[in-house]
Amino acid sequence: MMTDKYAEDADTIQRPPEPWYVDHLAGLARGEFLLQRCDACGRHSYPPSVRCPECFAPGKEMVPASGAATVIGSTVVRSVVPTTVPPLPFGMCLVRLDEGPQVLARCLPAGHSVQPGSKVQLRVEPLDGLPGLPVVRVDEN
Ligand SMILES: [Zn+2]
Repeated sequence: MMTDKYAEDADTIQRPPEPWYVDHLAGLARGEFLLQRCDACGRHSYPPSVRCPECFAPGKEMVPASGAATVIGSTVVRSVVPTTVPPLPFGMCLVRLDEGPQVLARCLPAGHSVQPGSKVQLRVEPLDGLPGLPVVRVDEN
């Protein structure tokens, strides 16, 4: 069946990860949230991409985000099907970094959300068995 063949091919196709993706994951493991900054126009972007989303230039460097951000929206997840990682309930928020890009982050402590418009500090902390994930500590902001 054609669909099965595509599934087999998808399982066998492997390519090396893009350098910017490796850099971004390495930054998370060090506790840094890295953004791309375009060499041509200076725009910060996230998620990492091959070209600048503003001017389409290929050159960019990875720079640490300040972490200063404003909350766009927030919610507490109380049920997920079929399995849930992390344990319920957990809070999520979408923030806009002062550099411009938006980032989805976990709200800590678990089960809390944060008011839209709040000024917060985005951090990277070990979480859910991963070396680093973006988080907002509600009790600090
Ligand atoms: Zn650019």
